[in-house]
Amino acid sequence: MSLRFNAINNLAGKDGVSNAGSKKITAIFNENVFTLKTAREFLSDEAYKSLLASIKGAKKIDRAVANQIAAGLRQWAESKGVSHYTHWFQPLTGTTAEKHDSFFTLKGDGSALEEFDGAALIQQEPDASSFPNGGIRATFEARGYTAWDPSSPAFIMEIGTGKTLCVPTIFVSYTGETLDYKAPLLKSLEALNKAAVDVANYFDKNVNKVSATLGWEQEYFVIDEAMFNARPDLVLSGRTVFGHSPAKGQQLEDHYFGSIPERVYAFMRDFETESYKLGIPLRTRHNEVAPAQFECAPIFEEVSVAVDHNTLLMDIMDRVARRHKLRVLLHEKPFAGINGSGKHNNWSMSTDTGVNLLAPGKTPKTNFMFLTFFVNTIKAVHDYADILRASIASAGNDHRLGANEAPPAIISVFVGGYLNKVLQDVKERVSDKFDEQDEAILKLDLHKSIPELMLDNTDRNRTSPFAFTGNKFEFRAVGSTANCANPMTVLNTIIAETLKQFKKDVDALIEKGEKKEIAIMHVIREYIVSSEKVLFEGDGYSEAWAKEAEKRGLPNVKTTPLALDALVTEKAKHLFESNNVLTHVELEARHEIEVEKYIKRVQIEARIMGELCTSHIIPSAIKYQNTLIQNIKGLKEVGMPESSYKNQTVILERLSHYISKTSELVVQMIEARKICNAMEDTRTKAIAYESQVKAPFFDAIRYHVDKLELMVDDKEWLLPKYREMLFLR
Ligand code: ADP
Ligand code: MG
Repeated sequence: MSLRFNAINNLAGKDGVSNAGSKKITAIFNENVFTLKTAREFLSDEAYKSLLASIKGAKKIDRAVANQIAAGLRQWAESKGVSHYTHWFQPLTGTTAEKHDSFFTLKGDGSALEEFDGAALIQQEPDASSFPNGGIRATFEARGYTAWDPSSPAFIMEIGTGKTLCVPTIFVSYTGETLDYKAPLLKSLEALNKAAVDVANYFDKNVNKVSATLGWEQEYFVIDEAMFNARPDLVLSGRTVFGHSPAKGQQLEDHYFGSIPERVYAFMRDFETESYKLGIPLRTRHNEVAPAQFECAPIFEEVSVAVDHNTLLMDIMDRVARRHKLRVLLHEKPFAGINGSGKHNNWSMSTDTGVNLLAPGKTPKTNFMFLTFFVNTIKAVHDYADILRASIASAGNDHRLGANEAPPAIISVFVGGYLNKVLQDVKERVSDKFDEQDEAILKLDLHKSIPELMLDNTDRNRTSPFAFTGNKFEFRAVGSTANCANPMTVLNTIIAETLKQFKKDVDALIEKGEKKEIAIMHVIREYIVSSEKVLFEGDGYSEAWAKEAEKRGLPNVKTTPLALDALVTEKAKHLFESNNVLTHVELEARHEIEVEKYIKRVQIEARIMGELCTSHIIPSAIKYQNTLIQNIKGLKEVGMPESSYKNQTVILERLSHYISKTSELVVQMIEARKICNAMEDTRTKAIAYESQVKAPFFDAIRYHVDKLELMVDDKEWLLPKYREMLFLR
């Protein structure tokens, strides 16, 4: 029996039993995390204070104290049955990495003991030669090491029956270049902190720290494991390269409001339980628009923690799904013709005085502060739209952006009717003759109109890539597989740069004798004027917007290889280097890595397409072709009139046409690939893969294969069909 029918037959009897007991969330939350409370219990006063200080201000921990912290960590871990530890990090491959070592060691005299010292806590050398480094390690130094990041708490990962103590780390080369997503993120947060505190101090001297906050919304598909295994394209590339749309797709919109299927619900309960134990504050779960598509979202957290939690979650979801004989598909576009998956990044900034800088305030003064940060954010997105676009570029996301289901590749900002009016007001009323009295009145007027904006919230524009949603911005163009660190690093950095410039501009006016508030209003007005072309309230999916955006001069880069160019412009280099986030070398390396990833992804898809055509599609089609031939021959032989096999002949002709087209195109695609593979320069190669392999062949081959799927005898078709993957569970 083919894998396909095996999968269909085995579906019956899948019940969907969850292991999640009936414990309250609060009873298990953070159970497997070395929280400050746990640290208090397992560490000496000295070690605890030192850990606390390093969490707060990146203060270095000395070796003796590190030994104490390591001992406390081991004690805690062992009390939970843990025997191994690992440095956990986020390499540029996009997943997470671990190398497990046991606490167990042998001493010189041969005696055995369990040990975990400060040195092992602080630094580890993974065998990292196979992680992407964009040439850095080759040029500078052959190895990299992982270094403990005390700002992110250690945790215990339960894998199968084993348990491992995971120490969050950053990954760096011996010459100091960062090789992961986390290190630049932490640096960008530092840059933002500094710049935002300076500006916040115009309004409130008590602000000493500003952190960025992130609440992500993870979309994903869930399908049966046996179905998954019967689709080599899903196994190897994460998406179906072929598959005719089912007779019923998402047009009835009945999935979104429907109840969660039993098996999926059991899976959700289990991965949520695992997440809670690791301190991931999941809050919502629901069906998404497409059949078999779902979403979950946590309560927002500080960006670095939220990023760790999202990467952890993706890992947990995958592991738990397998326990349920299900598979999670995190790819941006696993199925053509229905919605893909994104990962909205809700982002804001908050002060150590407890103020959300992007939430409208309670007094005229706090609203003035809100307006300042609000306008600076818009200006940053306007000035660095190309870099923001690059931060979300990937082969998977190219299928989504601009495909009428996700924001287009054009970066614009939606702020809603009320705030638009507020911006217009400032623009019109702040003039050269603007004096103290005007300023006071304007501030009061703004204060009066801003609270209304809370009502405006419901009027959400779902088609905008960067939308203000009442007390935060929602970056909606992020792909579902993405590590949020990438877009968050860029967002933090561009806001930091803009706020730094803002402070310079305001201070310059103050120096000329302008009163502080008036100076701020002037600069805000200037920023509104210079960035208003990025504001767009209409339908972002429409053709009209693409035209309008072009008129406005907004970039619209549709493919990853070209979008990535924005990472290595002089502008980008200056931005990242002056904010101490990434050096020239690191940027070049990252660009190289992303371009290489793109090539590999398209290469794999092209290969699997070719292979499926030759080994699955065409053989099935030929079988059916033979059946038709036999039939026509037989009818002729027994002397039936031509009219009795006329229809079969038509079917046979069409079938033969699709078979030859498929096979011809596959041959041509292989030729095109050979030409690309011979190219030296990675950027040129990536562009060629897009324009010479993907664009001319992927859809064309698919068209013919999908026609064959509709024609060929169902029992001969080897690949599970869309209706089976999406509707059977
Ligand atoms: P909805 O979009 O369903 O109305 P919310 O607006 O409450 O829900 O939140 C959507 C996401 O935004 C959640 O993950 C939430 O935690 C997050 N969020 C809310 N406030 C902030 C904030 N200040 N900073 C970052 N994320 C936030
Ligand atoms: Mg949302």
